[in-house]
Formats: sequence, C-alpha cells, structure tokens
Amino acid sequence: MTSDWYTPVVSGVLFPFHERLKGHDTVQRLRALERSQWWTRERIAGLQRERLKQFLTRVSANVPYYRAVFERLGLDASAELETLPLLTKQLIRDNLEDLKSETAGVLTPYNTGGSTGEPLQFFMGKARKSHDVAAKWRATRWWGVDIGDPELVVWGSPVELGAQDRVCELRDRVFRTKLVSAFEMSEERLDELVRTIQRMRPRMLFGYPSSLALIAEHSRERGFDLSDAGVEVAFVTAEQLFEHQEEAIRQAFSCRVANGYGGRDFGFAAHECPEGGLHLSAEDILVEIVDRDGGVLPVGDEGEIVVTHLATSDFPFIRYRTGDVGVLSERACACGRGLPLLEALRGRTTDFIVAADGTVMHALALIYAIRDVPGVRNFKIVQEDLHHTRVLLVAETGFSDSKTREIENGLSQRLGSGVRITIERVDEIPTTRAGKHRYVESRVDVRARGVGARAPASSTPTP
Ligand SMILES: [Zn+2]
Repeated sequence: MTSDWYTPVVSGVLFPFHERLKGHDTVQRLRALERSQWWTRERIAGLQRERLKQFLTRVSANVPYYRAVFERLGLDASAELETLPLLTKQLIRDNLEDLKSETAGVLTPYNTGGSTGEPLQFFMGKARKSHDVAAKWRATRWWGVDIGDPELVVWGSPVELGAQDRVCELRDRVFRTKLVSAFEMSEERLDELVRTIQRMRPRMLFGYPSSLALIAEHSRERGFDLSDAGVEVAFVTAEQLFEHQEEAIRQAFSCRVANGYGGRDFGFAAHECPEGGLHLSAEDILVEIVDRDGGVLPVGDEGEIVVTHLATSDFPFIRYRTGDVGVLSERACACGRGLPLLEALRGRTTDFIVAADGTVMHALALIYAIRDVPGVRNFKIVQEDLHHTRVLLVAETGFSDSKTREIENGLSQRLGSGVRITIERVDEIPTTRAGKHRYVESRVDVRARGVGARAPASSTPTP
C-alpha cells in the first residue's frame, strides 16, 4: 500500500507542527502508544495501575468535587477504582464548576447528546485532546493509511460544522480532509456526495455507519461505480455498526470497514484492527462492565460500559456511565497487540428520519433541535408516520410554553410545516435493564423510500 509523497510531509512535519502550535504533545504520545500497543497485557495493566494512581493523586488534590468525594469516603490516591462512585450525566450537570481542576489550563466547552439524546455540557483540557488525537492517529495507521491521506468526513456535529471558518478550511485543504454534513441526505445531496468522492478520491472515509451505508446503497441503486474511487478503508463510529451496513459499505467502495467505539463525552475508547479485534486504547482508557446496580461484572459478562479516561485530570471522567452495553474479552488478538478487546457491543443506534417531502435525514438533526433548548433533561422522539411525530419530554420545572414552541418550530422546520408535532411532558423515559434506550425511533420505513439504511427490527439492540 503506497501513499504519495505528500502524506509523509503532512504526517511527519505539518500535522506535528500544527499540534505543537496548539500546545498538544500529540506526537510524543503517538510514539509512546505505538510502542506500548505491543506490550503484553500484564505490562499494559501495570502501566494502567501506575497511571491511575498519578491521575487520582492529581484529581483528589485539585478537583473540588473529587476532593470532597475522597474526604467523605476516607480514601486516598491509592484507592481501588471500584471504591469510587459512578459518574452520571446528572452528576456532571449538578457539579459542572466543581469538576474543573483548579490547576487546569485552557478548558474548552463541549456539548453532547448525540445518539444518547440526554444533553450534556462538559470541558476538555489539552492533555485529553492530545490523547484522543494520538489514539485515533495510531488506529488510523493500523490500516496502512495516515494523516495527510485524502479523507472524507461525513459527520453531523455542529461543533465541527460550525467551526468551518477560513482558517479551518485552509487547514483542511492542507491536511486533505473534507467535512460534509451527515444531516441532510436528499437524493440530490447523495448524488452530489457521490460526485465529490469520485472527484476527490479519498483514501479514507470517516462517518456514522448509517450515513456511509446510505451513500453506499444510493450509489448501488443509481448505478454509480465507486469501487475504483480509491477508498482503502471506511472508519465508522458513534453508532452500532450493523452487518448489512458493513456489507453495503464494503461492496460499494470495495474497501475495508474499521469500526470504532466511543463518544464525544468519554472519548473514542476502542478501535478495530485489521484482524477484527476492537482494541481499547488501554493506556488511557479503563473500562469496567457493571450490572444494573453498578456492581462490577467479571470479564465475559454483559453489562453497561463504564469508562475512566486517565487523561482527563483537568475535567475528570471517572467511572462514567455510558449507557452502552458490551462485554470485555480475555481473548488475544491475532494482530499481536496486547491492548484488551471489547466484544459484543450493543446499543447505540440512530435511525434516519424521513421528512414529509421525502428527504431522508440523520436523526441527529432532530436530536440537536431539542438538545440545545435550555431546561431539557431528557427526551425521546417517535416518528409515528410522515405526518405525525411525538416527543416525550423530561424538562426542568418551570419549563415555559415558549420553549415548548421552540421545540415544535425546530422540528417542523426539519420535518415540514404540515407535520403534526405533539409534545408530551413526562417524568421519566423508560429504559432497559442497562439504562439504554433508543432516543429516536422512526416507524416510517426508510427502505421503502428507496434510499434506506435502516436496521432491521430483529437487530434493534434494545427492546
Ligand atoms: Zn488486533
């Protein structure tokens, strides 16, 4: 697999320089991660213990919320992880200021909600950003591609899309990465995307499995040939990857598909290697599997994924409940890397929604319209049919009628003005045993619209 001359210039010079300008030590981290991935599992576990202790030392000294927790429980930095309380979105909301380290440098605010629908604001420091970029970079290189290779990103976060100013455009041109919105997937937009791919010849795609599968199925139905468009690998993340989606992507682009697991809130925790192992970024990410009551389950048992991110001492994620369901494995991967494996990932799915005029769009477009209204606690969107969509809404007391109208307007803008939107205030959204549910449910068959990538009901991860 050969890259052209430009890729090593970007990956070896321009990108490292860019990261240094931002105050990130990403390159040193990448080098360290590329060494430690080959260590034995025991040696990696030893590194985790050592790093956990350093992390808890900093957190218990500098983060007011955790200083109080450690005092209350009579713990010190050598505490076992299991003895610390689980962290929930609600706890983060209630303690947002106290979770900031007193010694944190620049903290960047982020919003999430994504496919889990429950809105959350949190902060990220530079150490965490370096880690996250380095871990993603390492996994990219597993597939014989590198930063600097042409990349098409099909993504929907307004954080990224809103940030497309001229500086970012220049940066993206230099790094040969192009960002397009995953939100509006009309027939015309899909045609345009196919043309973009043919023109750009990206060596890698990055996006939601549902979005890439939609492009794949569209190109097949319209008879466009993308098999020689130069795509080596499609990186998919943030949703469950269904088999039929993987197959559609693989066939349309004649490429390999690399799955990833993570979220904007707790970080991209695991990446698939070419041998099919979903490897945890174990140098910084500790994963526990817990039961309904928060008790830690043995390796091999299925339960909720709880994440501790060791590079977050500026704004800690310690034993954070993801709401996702998975299983840890003791299996060794054929690739020889000692990084532990996550198996049988369930949960995380985002449906497509069909607007009244037939436009197929990513469900996140609706999620964002609700998530950003202040006072919203939780919600579930049910598209009953093309003409009626219901919202179950959990909101703070005193949530005004004008905010309810704001939600209605936001949804009708996206779905079409003739669509009836009903908003039902509820105290709670029912969840599954592991606390997971689908935040968006469409009863309109997207497949019947001719451009579908919707999961069959049998593989729907939650009841
Ligand atoms: Zn592997």
